[in-house]
Amino acid sequence: MAREFPLERYRNIGIMAHIDAGKTTTTERILFYTGAIHKMGEVHEGTTTTDWMVQERERGITITSAAISAFWERMGQRYRVNIIDTPGHVDFTIEVERSLRVLDGAIAVFDAVNGVEPQSETVWRQADRYKVPRICFINKMDRVGADFEMSVGTIKEKLGARPVRMQLPLGSEDKLKGVIDLVRMKALVFQDAEQGSRFDVVDIPEDYQEAATAARAELLEAAAEQDDALTEKFLNGDELTEEEVRGAIRKGCVGLKLFPVFCGSAFRHKGVQPLLDAVVDYLPSPLEIPPIHGKTPKGEDAIRETRDDAPFSALAFKIMNDPSFSSQTLTFLRVYSGKLEAGTAVWNSVKGKRERVSRLVQMRADKKDELTECYAGDICAVVGLKLATTGDTLCDDKQQIVLERMEFPEPVIDIAIEPKSTADQDKIIQALQRLAMEDPSFRVRSNEETGQTLIAGMGELHLEIIVDRLLREFKVDANIGKPQVAYRETVTATKEAEGKYIRQAGGKGQYGHINLRVSPNEPGKGFEFVNSITGGAVSKEFVDAAR
Ligand code: GDP
Repeated sequence: MAREFPLERYRNIGIMAHIDAGKTTTTERILFYTGAIHKMGEVHEGTTTTDWMVQERERGITITSAAISAFWERMGQRYRVNIIDTPGHVDFTIEVERSLRVLDGAIAVFDAVNGVEPQSETVWRQADRYKVPRICFINKMDRVGADFEMSVGTIKEKLGARPVRMQLPLGSEDKLKGVIDLVRMKALVFQDAEQGSRFDVVDIPEDYQEAATAARAELLEAAAEQDDALTEKFLNGDELTEEEVRGAIRKGCVGLKLFPVFCGSAFRHKGVQPLLDAVVDYLPSPLEIPPIHGKTPKGEDAIRETRDDAPFSALAFKIMNDPSFSSQTLTFLRVYSGKLEAGTAVWNSVKGKRERVSRLVQMRADKKDELTECYAGDICAVVGLKLATTGDTLCDDKQQIVLERMEFPEPVIDIAIEPKSTADQDKIIQALQRLAMEDPSFRVRSNEETGQTLIAGMGELHLEIIVDRLLREFKVDANIGKPQVAYRETVTATKEAEGKYIRQAGGKGQYGHINLRVSPNEPGKGFEFVNSITGGAVSKEFVDAAR
């Protein structure tokens, strides 16, 4: 079997947002319009497709990073869009890190009433770190108080990024009708019937023309700046074609110079199809991102090009139970180079062992596709691997490599677990081993004084969910202690300390096992040391040690 789509028609994307900004709803709408699901789930009904775990449905947050494949047609060509669901809660930013590692571009969803919120800031910084190109979607334009311009402004002010408006909302709050496309200079009016599947392309209404013309002028300027030939054309006063504008904005977006901004309301079925067009138009294919680096068993640097004829290499980024067959493990892989065939053996270079790949699947919203092969640049899941844990490299055993490892910071909060019987003690050990495969970001320790088992996680919610799974999924009977917080004290340091600290930490913002971000406090008051993963403040000892 040959590759179905050329690599340039792949998009591996994530949807990242502050909790409640509408990530789940937007994902649902995307899956609906791409034809993957025919009946849309609503978040409040607890039926959405990406929320597999019970806890998520109950809490309305997305914890697991499921990858789902969908297809989108743009200008007569079919594209394969792999959607990697990224969690939005700050306690799970480690999950966000994992998914950011393996995706090539992202949609950042914002709530039009609030603009950039603290957690969107954390996720944005993580995406900066992994150099992930992003398009922005100002969602909830139907809400009372929705403010597109304010929201765009917060991208500039709070994220220090350069937003470029590609659309303007057509109306807002309960008068939201659709969006104005500033590239085509047309208004898209969404029909209410059939869940917004259809929209009419009409002339921009009179009272929007002035605003649209001004916003377009800015868009053209941003496009022209990306390319010398276009700059000249623009300065000569020549009209840029739609294709030139899209091409230049794509270049700027892939190069992280600018962030195209779109708007609408996922909930009211307005603006999602143009957002999918934008995924194709502005986010990179796997060919446009730099090849992955790694180390050979001898410790030499190695590079794997995104090509089918290169040696096979892949990164395991998510382990989970198959929701339809609870006993089977699904190991989600991002294939970087070469191809993986079902029925062959792979080398796990982190565990130092070979393992057989019996079945390969690709998850769709409504079914699983059985695959015989999976190619460079794609995402797939292996059924039934026993050894692989999150972050492992799988590769060709004749051409071994360890791809860049994912770093997991030290957890910041503990909880004690006391089994009620010896049988429960055994169950806890088994359950924790299983959970550790899925989620390497928590640790199991024992309290030296009391002999109690302690679970350490990234935050209270993280621990709550681990405990909940122990009780519910693994049916463990245990007394649960109170969470004990570590490393949460806020410390203020001087500018000098910051300089010294960064030097000592090798400029990478790392000290010991804690990843630190130095964030400016109120102006003139110095700096605060924050755990860049959890967003929590870091203890004084660490800062003192760094001084
Ligand atoms: P997530 O936490 O980012 O995944 O956000 P959800 O998709 O779960 O949405 C949070 C809440 O906002 C839910 O009650 C949604 O129904 C609601 N919501 C999502 N999109 C919109 C929108 O466009 N307009 C309005 N008014 N509500 C929305």
